Amino acid sequence: MFNLPSLRLGRLFGIPLEINPTWLIIFVLVATSLSFAYFPGEFPDRAPAVNVLSGIITALLFFASIVAHELSHSLVARTGGIKVEKVTLFMFGGVAQMEEEPTSPVREFVMALAGPLASFVLAALFYLGYVVFAAAGISDVVWAPFQYLAFINFFVALFNLLPGFPLDGGRVLRAILWGITGDQLKATLWASRAGQFIGYTMVALAVLGVLGGSLDLIWFGLIGWFIAMIAEGSYRQQLLKATLEGVRVGSVMSPDPVIAPGAITLDRLAEEYFLGGRHSRYPVEVGGSVVGLVSLSDVKRVPRDEWATTTVDEVTDRDLARLLVDESAPAESVFSRLSATEPGALLVVRDGRLVGIITRADLVSRIRRASL
Ligand SMILES: [Zn+2]
Repeated sequence: MFNLPSLRLGRLFGIPLEINPTWLIIFVLVATSLSFAYFPGEFPDRAPAVNVLSGIITALLFFASIVAHELSHSLVARTGGIKVEKVTLFMFGGVAQMEEEPTSPVREFVMALAGPLASFVLAALFYLGYVVFAAAGISDVVWAPFQYLAFINFFVALFNLLPGFPLDGGRVLRAILWGITGDQLKATLWASRAGQFIGYTMVALAVLGVLGGSLDLIWFGLIGWFIAMIAEGSYRQQLLKATLEGVRVGSVMSPDPVIAPGAITLDRLAEEYFLGGRHSRYPVEVGGSVVGLVSLSDVKRVPRDEWATTTVDEVTDRDLARLLVDESAPAESVFSRLSATEPGALLVVRDGRLVGIITRADLVSRIRRASL
């Protein structure tokens, strides 16, 4: 769902600002709850249209506050020499995408705190606006949004300071642990565990709420689930980076792969290679050179009664631009290529000659050995 193309609104301080279509869901939720629950509850005598208009404007100011929070992270990152790709609003709030991770614990600490600090400052400013306008006897239509925005920005700052990755507080925790132990991987593990704990606790609270007959916490639970997933993923990513750092494809691949001749039928391929062998993919050779890769799924796409009359050559994936990788390439770089469902394996070459085959399993077993 997050792969939907985002709409680019423009730039702020040179940083592109984007809106993902999923943001509309949360915008409508916030605007309707303000328009039809919060404001009518606080000001029952107002005309409904006033509450709706007030709800929409307040919701827009709330998301502008979120953008300010993300921009604060971004500007501090940029001062530290990290390139900021963009700031995106989506269904669970905002995210500032950096091109790289902070290189020192101090930098991460400062970057992480910059967001909540911005939210605290906004809370203070909105509160000041509320107090001044209310004291001056100006209509509640003007000060009520300020009152709400002061409260919500204060809440955003506190929530983001919860000490679990990927929340800002989790980054602060990671920076502190990283600074103390000097071990970024271990620090990420602990901060991610804390993030998973926070996320699953939120999910559990939402489930209890639903069992108790209240639907109020469903969104809260979804955010918790999202936090838990990211926490898990970020640790795996970090582990992957640490384990595969400096490792070349050539040292992880399975060397001297068994090659299937392109001229044999699928019947023979199934019997002699897939059934008898240990692999589910084979490089295919035609006229003395390797032309591509054949997998069990390529064969399965052909109806069973045509296997006796179809040759391997006919179903071979020949997209070499996608299938070949040099043995000197960094192992980390092929991970995402192998994570996709197809082709699931790459042909490893040295000086244009096939020397091995590398699968996701090869990488995973390498990572597993390292994490013991
Ligand atoms: Zn933040």
